[in-house]
Amino acid sequence: MAAIRSKNTRPELIVRHYLWRAGFRYRLNNPRLPGHPDLVLRRYRTCIFVNGCFWHGHEGCRYFRMPTTNVEFWEAKIHRNQQRDQQEQQRLAQMGWHCITVWECQLKPAVREQTLRSLAFTLNRIFLQDNSLNRYVVPEEQMPLAAEPETLYGNGEKEQTKK
Ligand SMILES: [Zn+2]
Repeated sequence: MAAIRSKNTRPELIVRHYLWRAGFRYRLNNPRLPGHPDLVLRRYRTCIFVNGCFWHGHEGCRYFRMPTTNVEFWEAKIHRNQQRDQQEQQRLAQMGWHCITVWECQLKPAVREQTLRSLAFTLNRIFLQDNSLNRYVVPEEQMPLAAEPETLYGNGEKEQTKK
């Protein structure tokens, strides 16, 4: 099924403009990552999804109302979208990416500034955490050997080749 993720929606543009002005740099709709995240911030190892509350089935959201006709059809469709979002974010997490979802309703004028600030705060926190972890380098002698002579295995020369 073609991606429900349409490009350049207004909520997405709001997030992009804010982050750009705040000095964050990103790539858009990376086709090689699961779910084609709207924004990819490599430096922060973070994918940002800007989700419409209806299509992505924002739970408990007052802007998400099931249509009153074809209820079964819509329920199944939205449910599939939710499941796919979840699976894609799990795959990204396994690949070492952080995932942040910004919902359309969180970008309504009354709450927009707060949402965007906390997004920037989260990104900075992720960056600091990642970089403090990276300083922790495993000492060389504890590293497993990357390459060993093939004769070590299976042809009786084991003992001679070993030092
Ligand atoms: Zn919502």
